[in-house]
Amino acid sequence: MSSDEPSIFTRIINREIPAQIVFEDDRLIAITDINPQAPVHLLVIPKTQQYRDVGELAEADPELLSQMVRVARSLAQDHADGEFRLVFNSGAGAGQTVFHVHAHVLAGDLQESALV
Ligand code: AMP
Repeated sequence: MSSDEPSIFTRIINREIPAQIVFEDDRLIAITDINPQAPVHLLVIPKTQQYRDVGELAEADPELLSQMVRVARSLAQDHADGEFRLVFNSGAGAGQTVFHVHAHVLAGDLQESALV
């Protein structure tokens, strides 16, 4: 489980810091990544920060994980041609820096290096 300290994404959800919000419903928010690694680089984020990574989320709430994938597909259709790469960094050694589960949605003209 994550710490009680609000994550950067919780602070965005609470409108304490600004972000470009491209989707929001009762359980998820999606924003543009501040440091894009592809022509379209969005983050799909559960509003709860109780899951650190996609493994914890899959164990505890597979329906929420499924919702994340469906939102990612919809965003790729709206912001690109519908084709996309979905990346979940899991663990610091894999490049994860924010321990509040999130999916990177990469789309557009992807380079081989666009792995986040
Ligand atoms: P990860 O390294 O997989 O944990 O991904 C964290 C992502 O959050 C990185 O791609 C960052 O660029 C992005 N990020 C961090 N702070 C912000 C912010 N304030 N607004 C938008 N994206 C952010």
